[in-house]
Amino acid sequence: MKAVIGLGTNMGERAENLVQAIRAFELLPHTKIVKYSSVYESKPYGYAEQPNFLNMALILETSISPEALLGACLGIEAGFGRIRRFKNGPRILDLDILLMEGYTSDTELLRVPHPQILNRSFVLCPLYELFPSGVAFDFDFSEAYQRHPKNDIQPYRI
Ligand code: AMP
Repeated sequence: MKAVIGLGTNMGERAENLVQAIRAFELLPHTKIVKYSSVYESKPYGYAEQPNFLNMALILETSISPEALLGACLGIEAGFGRIRRFKNGPRILDLDILLMEGYTSDTELLRVPHPQILNRSFVLCPLYELFPSGVAFDFDFSEAYQRHPKNDIQPYRI
C-alpha cells in the first residue's frame, strides 16, 4: 500500500534532520521510498515566536500496517529526542501520516486522511508536487491547493 508522510522541522540543523529522517524511513522493513517532494521553508503556524520550518513529503510503498507505520513515525521522532512541550510549538522533527491508499481511520490515535491537510500550505504545496493532478489516491485537494494563500511558504534549496 502507498502512504504519504509529511515531515517538518524547525530546530537544530533542519536540513540534516530531514536527511536523517529519510534515512530512518529507508531502514524500515518492507518499505521503500518511491517519491520525494522538494523542500519548502514555511512560517510557523499557530505560535509565531519560533524559527521557520522546513517541510517536505514522501510517498512510501509499504506492506506494514497503518498502526505499525504510525509506531515507526513516533519511534523516529523519539529517536530525534523530540519533546512535546506544547501544541504547535518548536520541534526537531514532526512526522504525520497524511494519506494511505485505500485506507481511512478516524480514531484519536490515527486519523487518515490527516485532518489538517486542506488547511496548511506547508502540506498542500509538497503534496501538489507529488500529485500534480490535485488528487492523491481518492483524496481531492485541488480546490484547497488553488485557493490557499502561499505567501507564508517558499522553495528551499538544501
Ligand atoms: P502531533 O505531534 O501534534 O502531530 O500529534 C501526534 C499524535 O497524533 C500521535 O500521538 C498520534 O497518535 C496522533 N495522530 C493521529 N493521526 C495521526 C496521523 N495521521 N499521523 C501522525 N500522528 C497522528
